[in-house]
Amino acid sequence: MRGKCLCGEVGFECDAAPVVTVACHCTHCQKTSGSAFSVNAIVAGAAFRLTGAYAVYADQGESGGSVERCFCPKCGSPLASRLANGMVAVKVGALESDEDVTPVLQLWTRSARPWSKALLGAPGFETNPPSA
Ligand SMILES: [Zn+2]
Ligand SMILES: [Zn+2]
Repeated sequence: MRGKCLCGEVGFECDAAPVVTVACHCTHCQKTSGSAFSVNAIVAGAAFRLTGAYAVYADQGESGGSVERCFCPKCGSPLASRLANGMVAVKVGALESDEDVTPVLQLWTRSARPWSKALLGAPGFETNPPSA
């Protein structure tokens, strides 16, 4: 898989297929994504490499383990997190390749926003709504 940040300064490549893709509702994912949850493809750390001048925020996850959050210092996009168990959580919003990253599990549902489950059933526009 491969991907990059919004401005293109930081990219990544991974030679291994994702082990699993998860949606994480933990409060740290809510903060760093600026959203209700993050969707992460979990890959083996040895197969993953970032390119470009990325920055790292040394976080401690809600479970207590170390989480190195890698992001672009120029545009702010989160790209991946190196986890204490040697795996890497790749932010699927940054992907530019088309492997299957359908989320099959949800983590930290105890802090999920109460409306998360119903959100995708809300009416949608293909783009921004038409202006009045
Ligand atoms: Zn960037
Ligand atoms: Zn999380």
